[in-house]
Amino acid sequence: MRIVPARDGGLARLRLPGGQLSARAARAVAHAARTCGSGVIEVTNRANLQLRGIRDDAHAALVEIAFDAGLGPATASGDDLRNVMLSPLASDGTRALAARIVDALQADAALHALSPKFALQFDGGERLAMLGHPHDLWLAATDDGARFTFGLAGTMPLHAADAPAFGAIARGDVVAFVTRVLRRFLALATPEEHRMRDLLARVGVRHFLEALEFDADIAPWRRAPADATLRLGAHPEPQCATWYAGAQTALGRLDAATLDALADLADSFAHQHGDGHLVMTPWQSVLLPGISPHDTDEALQRLHALGLATDPREPFARLIACAGSAGCAKSRADTKADAHRLAPLLPAHDTAQVHLSGCERSCAAAHPVSATLLARAPGHYDLYRGECIVACNLTIEEAAERLARSHADA
Ligand code: SF4
Repeated sequence: MRIVPARDGGLARLRLPGGQLSARAARAVAHAARTCGSGVIEVTNRANLQLRGIRDDAHAALVEIAFDAGLGPATASGDDLRNVMLSPLASDGTRALAARIVDALQADAALHALSPKFALQFDGGERLAMLGHPHDLWLAATDDGARFTFGLAGTMPLHAADAPAFGAIARGDVVAFVTRVLRRFLALATPEEHRMRDLLARVGVRHFLEALEFDADIAPWRRAPADATLRLGAHPEPQCATWYAGAQTALGRLDAATLDALADLADSFAHQHGDGHLVMTPWQSVLLPGISPHDTDEALQRLHALGLATDPREPFARLIACAGSAGCAKSRADTKADAHRLAPLLPAHDTAQVHLSGCERSCAAAHPVSATLLARAPGHYDLYRGECIVACNLTIEEAAERLARSHADA
């Protein structure tokens, strides 16, 4: 398990299978956050959890708690190979196949040399899915799940003008195919090439693919659009009689008491009482699945009472901020504190996302966001729309004014 130093102490990443976390494991994480760290828990933009402020003398205790809760990797150096993103609403069949991929990768010692940032996406075609994060390898169900299309170093094609998928493979060949792709990457990459895009820029896609077997005849395939607003509010679960309730954490953070309370909600609302679980999402939000349709209003009220946003127009459903200067030495501003100042000033009835980033690395948002405030100095930001800078050196109040003006003009 990886614990890296940060300005506010050790930062421990707990990888969750497709974002899923049982109520029992959630309570264990809350306990670990209290006893081993500062109590701050973050939902990451890959639907995992991070604990902040881990003390140097608490690493062993944290690892023991995580393994006892079933959150450890299958092999000592296999943790980073669990970097496979799924839809929060992935079906049991998709989750089972993804689990087989993760098991196979962890069991293959040759693959343990991959960079911890090497990322896979395994998509079942769900309507709630993060499609904006580029992945080193993505696979997406087609033909009712009988085949999976795939692509390298990018995102799935959504529109006619997007680069098409490279090919397709039969469902039964998926696990072996993923292993072959990753082994080929390691065989061809130089020590400086950690990501698929680095390798392909040098050797080209054609050369990479020539040793792999797949069906290349899938040119017209496009991924059906997804709807990110389905992460919030109450909605029926696909192919189930139950519903889920979704809510956004404020700037991706929870405290231990809130995670304990979410575990209690999961247990009390679960259709099969006492068997609750949570699902973390790549929007740094959380779903409470398995709810009776009669209980959805109460579930949303209880989530709201915990300080989570359940409506896309609420400020904390729209704001993203990286760790900022309190947690990261690279940050030029305290982005989290500034986002809290910005929240009440955001235009009401808008749903556009605003991202505050302490530096150019953009850790908090791997997907495109309507407006980015890039820190220039403490309390001062440049405002970007896409790649274009539209205003410089704004205070938080000036940024709010600019955002309100562009909302009114829209
Ligand atoms: S975006 Fe920059 S400042 Fe913010 S957490 Fe990442 S590295 Fe640190």
